[in-house]
Amino acid sequence: MGKAESFDFSDMAKYNSDAELTPGNGKKGCFISVLVGILLFFLVVCLVIGVGLLVYFAGKDKNCSDASAGSESSSVAELIDKCKDLIDNGESSVCDTCRRTTTTIPSSTQSPAAILQNVRLPRAVLPELYTVGLQPNMYDGPPEMFTFNGTVRIRVKCHQTTNNITVHINKLNLTEKIRVTGVDPSDGIHYKNHEIDTKRQFLIIYTNSPLLPGHYYDLDLSFIGPLKDDLHGLYLSSYKRNNQIVYAATTQFQATDLRKAFPCFDEPAIKAKFDITLVRKNHMTSLSNMPKISSESRGNGWIADRFNTTPPVSTYLLAFIICDFQYKEDMTANDVRYRAWARPEAVNQTEYALSVGTKILTYFENYFGIPFPLPKQDMIALPDFAAGAMENWGLITYRETAMLYDPQESSESNKQRVAVVVSHELAHQWFGNLVSPSWWDDLWLNEGFASFVEYMGVDHVHPDWKMFDQIVVEDVQDVFNFDGLVTSHPVYVPVAHPDQINEIFDRISYGKGASIIRMMRFFLGEETFREGLKKYLQNLAYKAAFHDDLWFALGNQSALENKGLNVKEIMDTWTLQMNYPVVKVTIMADGSIQITQKRYLRDYGAVDPLKFISPFNYHWEIPFTYTTKSNINFNVTDADIHWMHKTETETISANVPGSDWILGNVMQYGYYRVTYSNDNWNKLINQLDEDHKVFHPINRAQIINDAWNLAMSGDISMTIALKTVNYLDKEKEFIPWKASLRELGYVDSMLERTALYGPFSNFMKKKVSGIFNSSSLSSSNMTHLESFVNTLIAAEACKYGIQSCIDEASRLFHLWMAKPTENPIRSSVRLTVYCSAIRHGDIKEWDFAYKMYQESNVAAEKSRLMIALSCSKEVWVLSRYLQYTKISSEIRKQDATNVIVYISGNAVGRSLAWDFVRSNWDYLLKEQGSVLYKFARLVAGILAKFNTRYDLQQLEDFLKSHPDMGSGTRAFQQAIEKTKSNIRWMDTNYDIVKQWLADQNFL
Ligand SMILES: [Zn+2]
Repeated sequence: MGKAESFDFSDMAKYNSDAELTPGNGKKGCFISVLVGILLFFLVVCLVIGVGLLVYFAGKDKNCSDASAGSESSSVAELIDKCKDLIDNGESSVCDTCRRTTTTIPSSTQSPAAILQNVRLPRAVLPELYTVGLQPNMYDGPPEMFTFNGTVRIRVKCHQTTNNITVHINKLNLTEKIRVTGVDPSDGIHYKNHEIDTKRQFLIIYTNSPLLPGHYYDLDLSFIGPLKDDLHGLYLSSYKRNNQIVYAATTQFQATDLRKAFPCFDEPAIKAKFDITLVRKNHMTSLSNMPKISSESRGNGWIADRFNTTPPVSTYLLAFIICDFQYKEDMTANDVRYRAWARPEAVNQTEYALSVGTKILTYFENYFGIPFPLPKQDMIALPDFAAGAMENWGLITYRETAMLYDPQESSESNKQRVAVVVSHELAHQWFGNLVSPSWWDDLWLNEGFASFVEYMGVDHVHPDWKMFDQIVVEDVQDVFNFDGLVTSHPVYVPVAHPDQINEIFDRISYGKGASIIRMMRFFLGEETFREGLKKYLQNLAYKAAFHDDLWFALGNQSALENKGLNVKEIMDTWTLQMNYPVVKVTIMADGSIQITQKRYLRDYGAVDPLKFISPFNYHWEIPFTYTTKSNINFNVTDADIHWMHKTETETISANVPGSDWILGNVMQYGYYRVTYSNDNWNKLINQLDEDHKVFHPINRAQIINDAWNLAMSGDISMTIALKTVNYLDKEKEFIPWKASLRELGYVDSMLERTALYGPFSNFMKKKVSGIFNSSSLSSSNMTHLESFVNTLIAAEACKYGIQSCIDEASRLFHLWMAKPTENPIRSSVRLTVYCSAIRHGDIKEWDFAYKMYQESNVAAEKSRLMIALSCSKEVWVLSRYLQYTKISSEIRKQDATNVIVYISGNAVGRSLAWDFVRSNWDYLLKEQGSVLYKFARLVAGILAKFNTRYDLQQLEDFLKSHPDMGSGTRAFQQAIEKTKSNIRWMDTNYDIVKQWLADQNFL
């Protein structure tokens, strides 16, 4: 899957929004394909199948009440028919009930994919080779009229006798007579007729006599389709050059959009070879997965470029581009031709991506023990791109911020983001492209794996960046938040409907996937992990896999090495149930250690919707490790593990002195929290205060993150959590700061509109003033991680009102205004400086920044200006900015939801943004709702700080008046849960925080 869209602005303070905008590699989301208006597949989830899916119709949803009534006795067929009728009658919300599924984990070996097979293509005939010609027509006339036309010949092999060939099709018009021919002329097969099942996006072609097993047939189709700027399928992209609009045609097919470009067997497991021809005008260039082998003139300035035949590849991994871009190129150590493409104006910004790309490609070849199978690798930065990047085999597409790097204009964080995304997409070339998921339910394995391996690739190129430390704050602690809710979901979720497929491109698939793979690498040991992985990839190359295939490969490797770990049994507890455990560690009177596990929830009172039932009653296989004061060891290996095998309590024989502290989950390798007696918590805090360096930075971050979240859930007192950040004046490392600011940022967002905000700001000011230095806003000479810390601290300093920060920011900004061609501000703190200057300035500063936003040629600079523009304190300025999100010539459509979220992050803008979203709900749903993760992020973003009963009432009222929330449904339910938890936090902790501030004389 494509790497997520990310907000990559390191110096994003908490001015706007929250953890989305943080230093480091930024947030990983995911690519979601637009599947507007597609209603296919949903019928199947109405299936009540004892073993697999249990659908229960609650009968609450008026649209489905017909279908639900008497569902106990209705046959599956009847239910499907009823659902079908509702849809035929235009009931769009029917799915809310029809897919309200309670998933029990399949108890048999039958994959849910098999259960859901009637939304899947029949397997009677399967494709061997596609011969495709595509011609985008985007050179004359208005862009609304642009089209593409094409032909495809699919050579299929028949595997079972059948009278039809069924393929996917969407939004295409067939233009010529369909032909079916036997490759052996004596077959005498002919096309009879065809039908289109629009709901399932099936084109079913019937033949005059049966197709026979073992025989080959050619299916010929011609078609025309619209070339629109909808970011999915074969779509129209554009950018401006000297006020002229330049067009390009490009593609995004994951998950189910190749069928929008030509009729095909559009499922990840149905691999075939492809011969592609792209027809372009002679001033353009064309690109695809394989190298170009010939070009021939077709007259009138048209050129047809033919590409080499691909190896067997999944449909979602194809890519076609016609553009006027330029490239830089290099050869890898193993002779793979590697090119980096961009708009001619930006091609100079591709050098960094090219240099890390070539190194990481070779590193992965060596690590996986399998050469990159294609002769070339292209990467291309596109001005319009919905995801962060997409791993198309041999032609990886990126959003500009994820690939372009300008040493003058981009920050260290931008640089890291480029390296991370490049690494992520290259990891997919093996994990996903060479070995593909059998079905989308195993998306998490692709994404989790690539989200872990990306750290390995970047670590190889930049060992000083400490990527394996950063993963703890970027992924493990980040996803802990979401996964601590009853509305989370298991990593592995059976999916069928495209909305369901889209929903799982989320933090659980990426972040939790990466975190549990990291844990697995730890308990297996690096060599076992690597050898098992190699065998898995070698055995399944050019094929499709189910996650059990990986567990077995790693388990077999472990057995070979006499470690005997049952990888499947262990990993099933982490993938088939949601949430994670908290382990309580107690030193007993005899010096032994008792550990107990329970399911952690941020709110133990929340009502579990029971959408997912744990097959293990929320017990996990936990690789527990610990260290103590008198036996300090942060260098743990798999030999140090004490396993908890789904048991409630275990005792570890040891001889720990009563005066020692004990620390569990060393290096936070395990995906679980740890808690202790108050006495032990206080000993850990004393150690932080006396000499924090005794703990590894990862465990400093862990102590803080665990304490705050255990206080959130009520497992320990907030007083303990507050004490974990007292030592921060002495902290100089990035990881603990990042962890602390995540928690303190939450306190900030809760107190923002209360009387305690002033005293809290004074506390924050004191914590950062020790290490803030105003000269750091313009000076350079910092290492990568020093720059990260500096970015965080500068943001806090300006935000909490350290005068030297505000003054210096204003001075530098005005210098820049006086000479726009010479920006004197260090790139890594530009967002802080811009934001502070706009916040403390007036319309002159805003207008200047907006002008620079429109003129900038560097995507990273553009994005940070876009964020900083939301920092104004002027209501009218913010209102105007909100209106700009509806005008694509002001704010690009792909950025509109981000801008709204940024504005809502500003205390002044919060209610403006909420009003704007409410009054423009239908518009937003129509324009933005199709990109589900972005829409979910919009809803979550604008509601993140809601924390009063009045806020809650507003949400509930809004939900009541909008029973059909479409893509916003789940995010809205989560926002309500979050608001309730915020209210609870205020009820429980406001007075404690007040007392704590008073005790330190801030009140
Ligand atoms: Zn991915």
